[in-house]
Amino acid sequence: MTLGRELTNAERKCPMCGGTKWILLDGTSTLQALEGGLEAIAYSCDECGFMRWHRADKTERS
Ligand SMILES: [Zn+2]
Repeated sequence: MTLGRELTNAERKCPMCGGTKWILLDGTSTLQALEGGLEAIAYSCDECGFMRWHRADKTERS
């Protein structure tokens, strides 16, 4: 996995600034600790830095 990869997703606009460019973060292990085993992928908004999580079971992974 390449950390800091930029993703553009027009279907997931930032709730803070409306941006559509997201930076993939290495946050999987953190959320596992926080939510008792849920695996998730973290993204941060390239425009304002807002961070959001996508549960792995709801995210298409190739
Ligand atoms: Zn934003």
